[in-house]
Amino acid sequence: MKINPFESAKQQLHAAAETAHLDKNIVEQLSAPDRYIEVSIPVKMDDGTQRIFSGFRSQHNNARGPYKGGIRYHQDVDLNEVKALSFWMTFKNAVVNVPFGGGKGGIIVNPKELSEGELEGLSRGYMRQMFRNFGPEIDVPAPDVNTNSTIMGWMRDEFEKLTATEAAGVITGKSVSEGGSEGRTEATGFGGGYVLREALKAGLVKGDRKTIAIQGFGNVATYLSEYAAEHGFKVVALSDSKGGVYTPDGINISEAENHKKTTGALKDLEGTTNITNEQLLELDVDVLVPAALENVFTADNADRVQAQFILEMANGPTAPEADKIFAEKEITVIPDILANSGGVAVSYYEWYQNMHDEKWSKEDVLSKLDSLMVEAFNEVLAAKEKYQTSFRTAAYIVATQRLTEKML
Ligand code: NAD
Repeated sequence: MKINPFESAKQQLHAAAETAHLDKNIVEQLSAPDRYIEVSIPVKMDDGTQRIFSGFRSQHNNARGPYKGGIRYHQDVDLNEVKALSFWMTFKNAVVNVPFGGGKGGIIVNPKELSEGELEGLSRGYMRQMFRNFGPEIDVPAPDVNTNSTIMGWMRDEFEKLTATEAAGVITGKSVSEGGSEGRTEATGFGGGYVLREALKAGLVKGDRKTIAIQGFGNVATYLSEYAAEHGFKVVALSDSKGGVYTPDGINISEAENHKKTTGALKDLEGTTNITNEQLLELDVDVLVPAALENVFTADNADRVQAQFILEMANGPTAPEADKIFAEKEITVIPDILANSGGVAVSYYEWYQNMHDEKWSKEDVLSKLDSLMVEAFNEVLAAKEKYQTSFRTAAYIVATQRLTEKML
């Protein structure tokens, strides 16, 4: 049965509400998006026919600042997924204390089936239907699954044409030459690395081998594994959609990157053994990092997880039933809304630079990000100790208390 991510998200909030006796009206308000917009987008295809695509935007909450969140292109995007993702954005931004709310959008499409011209028509069409709901102070989208800086560039251009304004701050995740921020590419992976470093300092990573297994080898996993390897961790396993590789001696990350570039996959990397994604999640390692997909930990496999420390870099990788099993097994889980918030934090820096016509260096951006993540980690740790609860519930408590200050 497909797990409904929006139901999982609400359960996480309700656990925090019970633990910290949060304001009932605020919790009720946060349990549904402010607004949900659905549009039909007509696109002229290369063969002269017209196709209609469905596009969405969920604007969850803007009490702390403009709605903020990516736009994904996927054939399976649906209402509950977009709602859950916009919900998590609200809490993520509140945990790292950046003045944004939560939003998320999507189009039902397999972008690999479209030509470049059709993709541009679709992206401009989405903005034409939605532009009244967007704006630097209203709702600020960004790239997500299957969207990138080129697509964001088309959308920004369309927005500026329709509103006759110049509005670099209407979208983040732009290329640096188009007003994007230095350090955005590294931000999510490095942000997770800073949290891992702090957790290690706080004595939360048990075991002295400092071994780490990472599911995924995309943007987030690559920078996290680089950071971890540079800070004394041994990355013993990595994977992509075609499978994983393992060696107890530690993987050389740049060799893995080269191998993936030349062969198109990680498997058969020299000096490693091929494993499945399922095997990777059940390895006997000190740190386990899901950095690919939602709902990878369920009631079916949570019992077999051996790692005592999980850093959630993917959004929503742990289903609530799996969370319960992890709690029983006393596995420490650093939740997505803290662990992967480095990306949106630097999106805020990008927006801020656009709004104030500033340009920060990569060192400056990453050093600001480091301080922000350390602060967020310490606040969540303090709430965890105060309420004697999990990191996830503590993160929701910190975020909801911040939201409450603006919503009462
Ligand atoms: P990406 O597209 O660059 O990489 C995704 C990786 O997952 C790839 O290596 C891909 O091969 C792998 N993958 C896909 N299907 C898989 C499967 N069935 N089994 C195992 N691996 C599979 O994406 P990314 O930007 O690295 O994002 C990874 C995760 O982090 C996603 O859940 C995303 O929502 C989340 N996230 C990303 C950011 C960001 O700034 N990029 C921010 C917050 C959260």
